[in-house]
Amino acid sequence: MTEFHYALDADGVATITWDVPGKTMNVMSFEGLRELDACIDKALADDAVKGVVITSGKADFAGGMDLNVLADMRDNAGDNPAQGLFDGIMSMHHLLRKIELAGMDRKTQKGGKPIAAALPGTAMGIGLELPLSCHRIFAADNPRAQIGLPEIKVGIFPGAGGTTRLSWKLGAMAAAPLLLEGKSNNPAKAKAAGVIDEVVPAADLLSAAKAWVLGAKDADLVKPWDTKGYKVPGGTPYSAPGFPTFVGASVMVHANTWGVYPAAKALLSAVYEGLQVPFDTALKIEARHFVSVLMNPSSSAMIRSLFVNKGALEKGANRPDVPDEKVSKVGVLGAGMMGAGIAYVSAAAGIEVVLLDSTIEAAERGKSYSTGILDKAIKRGRSTEEKKARLLGQITTTTDYADLQGCDLIVEAVFEDPKVKAEVTAKAEAVIPETAIYASNTSTLPITSLAQASNRPEQFIGIHFFSPVDKMLLVEIIKGAQTGPRAVAKALDYVRQIRKTPIVVNDARFFYANRCIIPYINEGMRLAAEGTPLPMVDHAAQLLGFPVGPLQLVDETSLDLGAKIAKATKAAMGNDYPDDAVDDVVFWMVDEGRLGRKSKAGFFDYDDAGKRLGYWTGFGARYPAQDGADLTEVQNRLMMAQVLEAVRALEEGVLEDIREGDVGAILGWGFAPWSGGPFGWLDIIGAEKAVAICDDLEARFGKRFACPQMLRDMAAKGQTFYGPKSVLKAA
Ligand code: NAD
Repeated sequence: MTEFHYALDADGVATITWDVPGKTMNVMSFEGLRELDACIDKALADDAVKGVVITSGKADFAGGMDLNVLADMRDNAGDNPAQGLFDGIMSMHHLLRKIELAGMDRKTQKGGKPIAAALPGTAMGIGLELPLSCHRIFAADNPRAQIGLPEIKVGIFPGAGGTTRLSWKLGAMAAAPLLLEGKSNNPAKAKAAGVIDEVVPAADLLSAAKAWVLGAKDADLVKPWDTKGYKVPGGTPYSAPGFPTFVGASVMVHANTWGVYPAAKALLSAVYEGLQVPFDTALKIEARHFVSVLMNPSSSAMIRSLFVNKGALEKGANRPDVPDEKVSKVGVLGAGMMGAGIAYVSAAAGIEVVLLDSTIEAAERGKSYSTGILDKAIKRGRSTEEKKARLLGQITTTTDYADLQGCDLIVEAVFEDPKVKAEVTAKAEAVIPETAIYASNTSTLPITSLAQASNRPEQFIGIHFFSPVDKMLLVEIIKGAQTGPRAVAKALDYVRQIRKTPIVVNDARFFYANRCIIPYINEGMRLAAEGTPLPMVDHAAQLLGFPVGPLQLVDETSLDLGAKIAKATKAAMGNDYPDDAVDDVVFWMVDEGRLGRKSKAGFFDYDDAGKRLGYWTGFGARYPAQDGADLTEVQNRLMMAQVLEAVRALEEGVLEDIREGDVGAILGWGFAPWSGGPFGWLDIIGAEKAVAICDDLEARFGKRFACPQMLRDMAAKGQTFYGPKSVLKAA
């Protein structure tokens, strides 16, 4: 055995220790399932064994299932992948049910062996589904530990009995946030929620679990759902209290998902149907719904982007092969909105920060942003005064460039003005070590041209954060024409330290994310100007699975920023500038003082606290709403506006890796996560259909919808972006 280890002590307690070699976190594999099964059989068959404790040899219990196991079940089943999945999932149910019944006589419910789970730390996914099948769950009082079932976040649901066991244990209402939102809790909160049974000091974890095993009676082993007349808390769907729960839950799921996430709906069906039948049948129902979700192309696309590829990028899939470039001291130039956030996330990662601005007041104001975040966290019980003091102690404010001595990385976030940027580059390079890497956080200026101010252009790179820096997970790394591999490695190592997800792209106007977001927002404003009702513009996007529509998005990013970008782009593009119709709206809104949320007036009206009240009715005075807009056409326009930019970025070599294009789109601007990203979406609808949509839109709305040649060729050859027919492998 390699992943689960079995040991029997003198008291007759068998300890099964999960400890996958070579990994810091246990993840369930095929081999793991086989070994766990063998350990359980051994314990149940051995008369010397009085009971069992299942624990982990690592600091945590388990991070979840290796999702490749599910992919293998499907792919190894030949012509009938659904059957392969169903059989594979049912075999997991059999194993967990075997643990739950523990060899007891089903009629007398006597003679079983007590099995306890002892969780030293985090227990997620199958790492909680396995304990839920045990008779008692002990957790160490490790406040860092997270206990939960997060599957819904990658487009599936807990399918190894977690959905059924949790809803039968807690009732549908209490289980809903844990299942439908994938909410995890620390051990104390997990106990309060009724998910686990005991929280004990870490040093006593195993002894407490063993003591319980040795003292357990037959009745302690019988799960409530295996007792006669068990009434699920909150009632079944056809009971008086249960009925409104399910009506409410359906509404909530639909309101949150706009009907585009198959997993949430299927999960709710599994709970609803499962609660009306005996427990073993409920597990079978859960398995059927789980298979239907896994067979939906959306779940493969979400798993691919949000789990497999996101993880690969975070681990440095595109990192050049150069030695470790971890950052120990970062100089942040400019302590405005972005610099303040960059200083915070760097200090939070344990990096020493020098925060420089032109006045000490500005630098201090930037540092106080960290104070604000930490004070809020302390209020919510998520941080402490000591942590705050430590983090703030790592940020030194200054106006003196000499303080940048010893910085191995600079992140510049001064005004978006090439002259100002050139000046600070020269001043910083005069004091920082020869080997230091210099990064600009510019959002619109080409890295290659900014690098002209540098004496070391191969050490000059773009590290583009998104606002708000502490919340947004994506960081775009931009290679200028002369950027060398060490700079890329340093940027990637830094992004890894601050625990964000990187994509690496080449230098071009607006890089990747903004290049796609701007046409999306612009198409929304064009639609509004043509008379499409404002709510319809946003709702069309939300029905496609976007968390916010383009008009809400422009209110958040502000219309004056849009006007600034429009002016600069027009100056750069001259006669080729395509967006005059959009500018008509933008400049008028700015003239009207409707800058978006920050001026409490934009496409929406806001109250004094900045809460959206509703769409601005005054918009119709200049752009009256017209009847008869076609939802599908509105959706096609909004979708293609951004997807075609992603394809063009790939064709032009700005994007080098479609995985980055997809992950970047979901994390950068909330591109419909159910689709796996723009390339995932194109694969789901197929290149042929995409070409037909583009041709139709181009004929009616102009050349911004012209189909890229790459897509046309793919349609002709039946190719996809991912999978065996990938255009990229063929190329
Ligand atoms: P900001 O105006 O809030 O902050 C700029 C800061 O730089 C100010 O505190 C200013 O005093 C300081 N500064 C200006 N000249 C300086 C100099 N010579 N020496 C030292 N400090 C100087 O701007 P911001 O929104 O934080 O943007 C900063 C950079 O980040 C810009 O390049 C911008 O394009 C980029 N960016 C902004 C966003 C965003 O959403 N705001 C997103 C990504 C990237």
